[in-house]
Amino acid sequence: MMDIFDTHVHCLSWEQTAADIVAQMDECGVRMECVIAPPIWYENRQALASLPRSERRKAFSRVWREKAPAANDLVAGWARERPDRILALAWIDPLHPEAPHEAERAVEAGCAGIKIINIGHYPWDERCFDVYDRIEQLDVPVLFHAGILGDGRNSRFSRPAEFEALKEWPKLRVILAHMGWPWTDEAIATVGMGRLYNPTANMVMDLAPGAPLAWREDAMAKALGYLPHEWILFGTDGKSTDGKAARVIRETEYIFNKLGVSDEARRKIYWQNACDFYRINY
Ligand SMILES: [Zn+2]
Repeated sequence: MMDIFDTHVHCLSWEQTAADIVAQMDECGVRMECVIAPPIWYENRQALASLPRSERRKAFSRVWREKAPAANDLVAGWARERPDRILALAWIDPLHPEAPHEAERAVEAGCAGIKIINIGHYPWDERCFDVYDRIEQLDVPVLFHAGILGDGRNSRFSRPAEFEALKEWPKLRVILAHMGWPWTDEAIATVGMGRLYNPTANMVMDLAPGAPLAWREDAMAKALGYLPHEWILFGTDGKSTDGKAARVIRETEYIFNKLGVSDEARRKIYWQNACDFYRINY
């Protein structure tokens, strides 16, 4: 099997160590991965859900401010320990006034990129612009959830075409996750059109499910048929506590075989494109 760079993995346990993460990567056949800081909203979802609807967004921001530095430091520590295997992504709430500062602090601590899920705001919301400016200055990639959310929160903020606004930051390296499923055509158009007409735009997509297997072949056929292969990253949306990566790799191989994807294209999608996007050299 080729080298695999899994660019989309969630950390679901604060108790883990870099050694645990690497052991699971070895089991799944992953050489390098991006581990996203623990999702603070998920751990606090019951408390947040018990609040009146109108107070939840503000409460989320408060919880983020309280817990994000420790969450981001946790994954940054793993990346410092195993830079040969782990890249850390810091979790940022762009609506919080402290977001630009925390992004900078987390990158200084060792995070190689930023993860954002748009909750209650669109990508073109002016309140996010300061943090985009800062991430662009920091010169690190930002991974956005794109497409339907699996947890019942409103996905309209994550429709791929809404991310067109980010092309106003041409140096910002943006990853739209999940092929934007079920709005895959929209994601392909958003990534493809932007870069066809503005060669300096820096938007790519990841293949992380997202799409259930029955839809994934069709979505991947379209993405690979339209976009240059260099604009596609491999990701599994695995959890640091499960072995999902192994299954997604198997499924991806099955689809690549059906679609007749060349070894050269696979090597780029599984490995080289992520190395180039994160500017690492192995
Ligand atoms: Zn994810």
